[in-house]
Amino acid sequence: MRLSEQPLFSEETIQARVRELAAEISLDYAGKPLVLVSVLKGAAVFASDLLRSLVIPAELEFLRAKSYAGTQSAGTILLHHVPGEELKNKDVLLIEDILDTGETIAAVLEKLRAHKPVSLAVCVLLDKPHRRAADISARYTGFRLNPRTSSDELFVVGYGLDYDEAYRGLRAIYTLHETR
Ligand code: 5GP
Ligand code: MG
Repeated sequence: MRLSEQPLFSEETIQARVRELAAEISLDYAGKPLVLVSVLKGAAVFASDLLRSLVIPAELEFLRAKSYAGTQSAGTILLHHVPGEELKNKDVLLIEDILDTGETIAAVLEKLRAHKPVSLAVCVLLDKPHRRAADISARYTGFRLNPRTSSDELFVVGYGLDYDEAYRGLRAIYTLHETR
């Protein structure tokens, strides 16, 4: 596998979009008890940038979801360290790296809903709408990935996103390609 030479989204493009999302969220949740619930590990970088760009107070919680091995969906979604009491009477915004089939977010939302937050919405950095299987949509979306811009299915890394645990530390987002 090799990385694209040019980033799909540069550091500057990502940071500008994160600030826009944070401004929108800050307006929508002003005066509300907001908790960001970030999905580990992929969304950790996005969530920490987003949190620091908010101009309203917010709490931060993490949960661990694991559904992928390599570039293929593993089919089952394992959830660990799901917050509970921390969400009671709070406005919860789930922060995820990629909305792909939607199965991960569907599973997480079901768990979070059981703890009776005042509200529950989703914020994703990237959306692959053509891949959707579960009936999930995000209130806030960083960037939409369009498969028609690429001959093969887009797999992206960087800015928290990995391929077998590599590339999370890249500041930009790159596409990964098969070496032929
Ligand atoms: P879903 O349950 O929506 O199918 O899967 C979402 C998860 O799949 C994301 O949180 C992410 O971990 C992983 N995923 C989907 N597409 C990509 C991709 O292009 N790159 C990386 N690194 N992970 C992806
Ligand atoms: Mg993930």
